[in-house]
Amino acid sequence: VGNMLVAASTAQRDGTTLVTFGTTPRMSTYLLFLGLGELERMTTMSGPTELGVVTGRGNVKKAQLALDASAEILPYFNEYFGTPFPLPKLDNVAGPGQSQFFAAMENWGAIFTFERSMLVDPKSTSEAARRRVYEIAAHEMAHQWFGDLVTMAWWDDLWLNEGFASWMATKVTDRMKPEWDMLVTRVAGRERAMGLDAFTTTHPVVQQVRTVEEVSQAFDAITYQKGEAVIAMLESFAGEDVWRAGIRAYMQRHAYGNTVTGDLWSAVESAGATGLGTIAHDFTMQPGVPLVKVEGAQCVNGATRLSLSQGEFSRDAREAKDKTPLAWHVPVKAQVVGGEVHSMVLEGKGVMELPGCGAYVVNAGQAGYYRSLYPADNMARLAKDFTRLTPIDQSGLLADNWQLGLGGYQPMSHALDLVDAVPADASDIILADLPGYMDGPHGIFEGDTATQKRILAYASARLTPILARVGYDARPDEGPQVPMLRQSLISTLGAMGDEAVIAEARRRFAALGSDPAALDGPLKFVWLGVVAHHADQATWDRLRAMANSAPSALDKSQIFALLGRAKDPALSAQALRLALTDEPGKTTSAAIIAAVAVDHDMQAVDFVLAHRAQYEALIDVSVRSQALGRLGGGSADLAMADKLNAYADAYLTPESRKVVDRSIAAIRTRAVTWARLKPDIMAWLDAKEATTRGRRGE
Ligand SMILES: [Zn+2]
Repeated sequence: VGNMLVAASTAQRDGTTLVTFGTTPRMSTYLLFLGLGELERMTTMSGPTELGVVTGRGNVKKAQLALDASAEILPYFNEYFGTPFPLPKLDNVAGPGQSQFFAAMENWGAIFTFERSMLVDPKSTSEAARRRVYEIAAHEMAHQWFGDLVTMAWWDDLWLNEGFASWMATKVTDRMKPEWDMLVTRVAGRERAMGLDAFTTTHPVVQQVRTVEEVSQAFDAITYQKGEAVIAMLESFAGEDVWRAGIRAYMQRHAYGNTVTGDLWSAVESAGATGLGTIAHDFTMQPGVPLVKVEGAQCVNGATRLSLSQGEFSRDAREAKDKTPLAWHVPVKAQVVGGEVHSMVLEGKGVMELPGCGAYVVNAGQAGYYRSLYPADNMARLAKDFTRLTPIDQSGLLADNWQLGLGGYQPMSHALDLVDAVPADASDIILADLPGYMDGPHGIFEGDTATQKRILAYASARLTPILARVGYDARPDEGPQVPMLRQSLISTLGAMGDEAVIAEARRRFAALGSDPAALDGPLKFVWLGVVAHHADQATWDRLRAMANSAPSALDKSQIFALLGRAKDPALSAQALRLALTDEPGKTTSAAIIAAVAVDHDMQAVDFVLAHRAQYEALIDVSVRSQALGRLGGGSADLAMADKLNAYADAYLTPESRKVVDRSIAAIRTRAVTWARLKPDIMAWLDAKEATTRGRRGE
């Protein structure tokens, strides 16, 4: 398989075959593709374009969803970009194995995707994974224009490729699968970006890249998720039609050529988005997260007058940023809940008039890349009116308040009260967020079993009725978000130690003895995950045997990775040792070690340090310097920060240690934050338990 169709295939006298591919138009060298193997191809026509999926022999039926996605998406992109796909064919090639760092690559006319991100097996693929297949295909297809037809001049503007492709993938998936509520998932993406961007170790979206090392470091949440969030904000500022007209002009002007970020802004400004360049410049050339504060709100003659000011949200330098925040032109959209949305571009300070009085939302629709800080009385009203907010505003409000609590901008009780106020009949997509907000505090009390038990009791009491409503198994005619909600509830309650969920997982696992298909279905690996997490030696051994006799390479690697999820440190140590043998297969070994790091980061990091050369042979060369930072980056233990620092001092150059330095900064901040939050969370639990006892009349 190459970028173009095979033009000729001629048998040679020496028994080999000479294959000649069609000549591509002018293109960038990094998009060249040549694949070979025992392959199978399935195709469909979309106008003049032959769309194909290519897999290892015997697997092509599992690529039906990817092919359907291509066929749905291509006509939309042809129309959106105004320049039809210029090659005669577009293949999506599924390859074996996995990377710890990427899922797919947008080679022109011949997308490469790892099997795990492209193939769907009804016996084991979860609904979440199915949606990822669609979204990844959409992302790589968007690159066929943004990246392939028009390429950034240099890696400084990598975000133009990745931010745009991510934004476009969400947009087209939302268009084709509105029932998936893709726009709401943008809040999660924004949170990932802000998770890096709120630290002083962050970088601007547009950044200087001089070395290969810096290129690989550039593939991070700032490039992808902040890139997507900023583009979504700019589209919202420009309006969909003006924005698209700008994109079309940009494509036409720069087809088969190179661009820099400014070329995009001037195209969209010329299409009518006056003032967009200034906003775009502020958000792409300088790092960080704006904080929009409501300084006061007055209800006058049936209208709300908001006084706003712009600060900077920081997790590790709040006092300094409060004194001298960076300045942005911030496009703000606000509304009184249920009322008309008003817009302004905030420069420092400003006043907004909103029709109506009552609870108000400052980032209405959540298209803005900033955090919103409200006075306590509005928070109380928002909690009361929670279900009157749109789901995306509910999601944004929960995320903002969580982070404002972590950052010390307001008491953590605001966020906990808000989570507590989410009713059991809220929309399923929001309910699917809830387990995470309970697992967060649970993780903060790692090592304090008594408090973890209290948090689990609260979580079980809140979530079990929801799980009872959706059931353990899919039901006909259930809502489109129910499979996601079910997975979130089972996996999180299972990981936190909910007895009922663990018992159900074990019951299903035991049933495999008499019926090997007992676990087949979209939750297969969710149930196996719960079993693996709470495994004893006999169970772990059985999982290992299952991995070795798995029906497909994909199943095999997923079960092997689960061996790393064991909570028992003696078993996770066995998983680490197993990872350095030939048994799991090279790329699976790295996944096992990453799985161990989720609950035993110190164990994983120590193991990797002790077997550094062997470990490095398991992962992509270009990202070796980042690997340890990722394995240990979720820790709150200062000893981990010191360990990573010593490692970076010994083995990394100043340019190659940036990712590790970001992890170190996050760990140090987390250690301080968690120590501060523990008494707050305990006090909140005390009050909550007292109210519950009071209600029961105890
Ligand atoms: Zn990409």
